[in-house]
Amino acid sequence: MTGLIILLVAWSGFWEKFRERRLVSGSAGCFEWEAKQMERRDKIYIAGHTGMVGSALYRKLQEQGYTNFVLRTHRELDLTNQQAVEDFFCEEQPQYVFLAAARVGGIAANMAEPAEFLMENLQMECNVIGSAYRHRVKKLMFLGSSCIYPKDAPQPLKEEYLMTGLLEPTNEGYAVAKIAGLKLCEYYRRQYGADFISVMPCNLYGYYDNFDPEKSHIVPGLIRRFHEAKVQKQKSVTVWGTGRAYRELLFADEMADACVYLMQNYSGGEFVNIGYGRDYTVMEIAKTVGRVVGYEGKILTDPDKPEGMYRKIVDSGKLRSLGWSPRYTLEEGLRMTYAWYVSNCL
Ligand code: NDP
Repeated sequence: MTGLIILLVAWSGFWEKFRERRLVSGSAGCFEWEAKQMERRDKIYIAGHTGMVGSALYRKLQEQGYTNFVLRTHRELDLTNQQAVEDFFCEEQPQYVFLAAARVGGIAANMAEPAEFLMENLQMECNVIGSAYRHRVKKLMFLGSSCIYPKDAPQPLKEEYLMTGLLEPTNEGYAVAKIAGLKLCEYYRRQYGADFISVMPCNLYGYYDNFDPEKSHIVPGLIRRFHEAKVQKQKSVTVWGTGRAYRELLFADEMADACVYLMQNYSGGEFVNIGYGRDYTVMEIAKTVGRVVGYEGKILTDPDKPEGMYRKIVDSGKLRSLGWSPRYTLEEGLRMTYAWYVSNCL
C-alpha cells in the first residue's frame, strides 16, 4: 500500500512537471492556446470599460450577442496593482481579455508627466498580460496607438515602420509603454504560443470622449466650441493653426467593430493598424462639425497657434485584406457623436 502511494505521488509530480514543460515550451499549436472561436457565453473581461474605447467594445460585443462579462471600474480594481490584478484573474478566470485601460492624455499632460505615462501604462500592461498568461486566457487583445511610429516615418504608416526611427518627443513615454505592450504580446506568442494580439488605431472620436475644453482632442473640442458658438450666436469660430494639417479620424464604435472582428478572425504574430483609410484637413473637419452642429457663422484660422504634426495616417491595407472596412462616413460618425454630446453632456 505504502509503495502504491509513493508511486502515485511520484507520478503526479512527474505529470505536473511534464505539464509545466508543455506550457512553457508551448507553440501556437499547444493545447492551451489552440485557436478557439469566441463563443457568445464565454467570459469576457474588458479592462477600461468606462472609457471611450472600452465602452464602445462593451456595446459592440453586447450587440453581437455576447452576454458573459466581467467588469471592474478603476476604483474597484487598480490595474497598476499587481497583486490585485492577479487576485482578480484567480477569482474570475476570464477566457477573453480586451486591454483598453490606459493612462491617456493630450500633448500637455504627456509633456508634463512622462514618468507617469510610462510607468502606469507599463504596470497595467505587465500586470494584465502577465496574469492573462498565467491564467491561460484563451485570447487577449492589446490596444496600442499610432504614436508608436517614428515621427519622421513615411506616410501612410505601415506596420513594418515600427522602431525604424526616433519617436515624437512630446509623447515618448506613452509610446515606449505602448511598444513594450505590443512586444510583450508578440513575445508571449512566440515563446509560449499564447494567442495574444495587438492593434494600433488612428485618432478616435465618439461617445464618452473627453469634451473638457482644456483637455479635449480635435473632434470633441470642435463639437463643444461650435455648439457654444451656435447657442451664443457668435459670428465666427477660430480654428488653431492654418487649417491645412491632415487628420485621420475613426468613430470609436467602428474601431470596436474592427477589434471584435479581429478577435474572431485574426491570430497572427504581427500587430494590425486600424484606420479610416483617408484623412481630412483640419478645415474640412471643422466645416463638417459646423454643418453637423448647425452653426452658420464663419470659420477662421489662427496660423500663430500650434497645429501639431502635419499629417498622421495609418496604412490600413492589412486590415482591409483581412476583410474589414468602416461603414460610416466622417459626417455620420460626427452626427452620432454630437447627438450623444447633446443628450449626455449639456
Ligand atoms: P479613456 O481615458 O477614455 O479610457 C481609459 C480607461 O482606462 C478608463 O476606463 C479608465 O478609468 C481606465 N484606467 C485608467 N487607469 C487605470 C488604472 N490604473 N486601473 C484601472 N483602470 C484604469 O481612453 P480611451 O478609451 O480613449 O483609450 C483606451 C485605449 O485606446 C488606450 O490604450 C489608448 O491608447 C487607445 N487609443 C485611443 C485613441 C483615442 O483617440 N482616444 C487612439 C488610439 C488608441 P478611469 O476613467 O476611471 O480612470
